[in-house]
Amino acid sequence: MTDFSARSLRLACRCAACVSEMTGKVLLDDSTVPETISVVDAELTGNYGVLLAFSDSHNTGIYSWESLLRLVPDEKLVAKIRQLAR
Ligand SMILES: [Zn+2]
Repeated sequence: MTDFSARSLRLACRCAACVSEMTGKVLLDDSTVPETISVVDAELTGNYGVLLAFSDSHNTGIYSWESLLRLVPDEKLVAKIRQLAR
């Protein structure tokens, strides 16, 4: 099953590996992100966000709950992330 929501999240990653901290330029190449990507783990970080691990081994992206809900209006995926982050 293709999880478009998980892929959208992955593409929206703003970690230092995906977006240049110096220039703000997006370094992530969309074509390298598998269509079938999924969220495999999540960890609460600080009191505002969640660190996500994706099935392509990318695990440095931190998302605020606010941005998560904005990026994926997908209750099932957000529920899954909440469960993983427990
Ligand atoms: Zn990233």
